[in-house]
Amino acid sequence: MALIPAVFLDRDGTIIEDKHYLNTPEQIRYLKGVREGLVLLKQHGFELFVVSNQSGVGRGYFGFEMMRRINRQIELDMHSWGVSITQSEFCPHHPNERCGCRKPGTAMFERIFHLHPEIDLSRSFMVGDSKRDMVSAEKIGLKKVLLSTGPPNFDVDYWTPDFFDAARWIIQKAMP
Ligand SMILES: [Mg+2]
Ligand SMILES: [Zn+2]
Repeated sequence: MALIPAVFLDRDGTIIEDKHYLNTPEQIRYLKGVREGLVLLKQHGFELFVVSNQSGVGRGYFGFEMMRRINRQIELDMHSWGVSITQSEFCPHHPNERCGCRKPGTAMFERIFHLHPEIDLSRSFMVGDSKRDMVSAEKIGLKKVLLSTGPPNFDVDYWTPDFFDAARWIIQKAMP
C-alpha cells in the first residue's frame, strides 16, 4: 500500500477564529491563509484530519448537536474550496472527566491511525496554536507546527503566524 502524508489540524485558533465556545455556525470565521494553505496541501497530496478539543459540550455551553452542525458547516465551506477533510475527531469531555482523548491526550489521533493505515507518520504534521497540540503531536511522532505571533517557550519544529506559510514549510519538509 502506498503511504500518504497527512496533516492533523487543530480547529479553534488554527482553522477558524477562537471565539471561546463558538455556539452557532454563523460565528465561523476562517483565519488568514487557511483557505490557500489547505488548497496547497491538498494539491500536494496530503490527507487532512481535524482533531479538536470541544470541552464546551462537557461544560454545558453548547450541545453535541451544535458541535456537529458547526463541523458540518466547516466541511461544506471547505468542499466549496475543493478541500476535503478525511476524518474529524472531537473530544466533547469536560477536563475533569480525565478522558484519554482531550489533547494533550492522544486517543483522537489513535482512532484516526487505526482507521487509516495509509498514513505515513514519518511525513505527517500537526498544526495547532497551543502547547497542548504540540505535546500530543510529540507523543505520537508528528512534526510540530505552531501558529503563533511570537516564539514559544516549548519545543516545536516550526512556528509562524500564518497558516499559508505553515503549509509551504510542511510541503518543503515532506519532500523526499
Ligand atoms: Mg486551538
Ligand atoms: Zn475526551
